[in-house]
Amino acid sequence: MNRADEIASNFLQVKEKISVAAKGCGRDLDQLTLIAVTKTFPTTDLEMLYSLGIREFGENRDQEASVKAAQLPSDINWHFQGGIQSNKLKSICSWASVIHSVDQYRYAQKISEYSLNKTMKIFIQVSLDKPVESRGGVDPEKLNDLAGQISLLPNISIMGVMAVAPVDQPAEPAFAQLQQIHQSFIAYYKDAKYLSAGMSGDYEMAISYGATHLRIGSSILGNRPPIK
Ligand SMILES: *Cc1c(COP(=O)(O)O)cnc(C)c1O
Repeated sequence: MNRADEIASNFLQVKEKISVAAKGCGRDLDQLTLIAVTKTFPTTDLEMLYSLGIREFGENRDQEASVKAAQLPSDINWHFQGGIQSNKLKSICSWASVIHSVDQYRYAQKISEYSLNKTMKIFIQVSLDKPVESRGGVDPEKLNDLAGQISLLPNISIMGVMAVAPVDQPAEPAFAQLQQIHQSFIAYYKDAKYLSAGMSGDYEMAISYGATHLRIGSSILGNRPPIK
């Protein structure tokens, strides 16, 4: 099978699994956004995804994504979901439509400052790890305070909450906890309707716990080439 057929066939399978998972828990497919996580994959792969109709691409590193964004059509929404470095935020704000990994007020301040003629959509990343905050993400107990502060900044819109399943604990109770965190956050901040959760290994489970934005890489693109 050539690369284009391989990607097309993987994409079809993922879409089918999403559809079955959504049906299984009474979720509407229209409420789900699939983000193809393309980090470390070459621009030629992204072009194949584009020709399959995909317009949401996820990247983790500014250096790599800024080059890809310049090479691909401008109707793509680029999602930044990697660990934030302050000195990269100005560039990230120039190509990204959505930043999923905001976990500190100082990052939000910079995003606000660098998003002058637009509104940057962000997710606040919460930590599901024990110990809490060990791999990025804010302690869920501090979420409302952080959101309250961020909501006062211009040029930023809080879409909701993002999380990654813990590495050394089962995903299911963590996703159940995440759904509760999200529900009580919506009660406090009603515009934060969205939940960015679910990767290749756990997106069907994430759908059943309320995820709206699925970040899926290797199930569509195969094993990731090593980072250069
Ligand atoms: C790489 C990455 C993904 C996609 O991971 P896969 O297992 O390849 O689907 C999703 N979210 C984040 C934050 C990532 O870094």
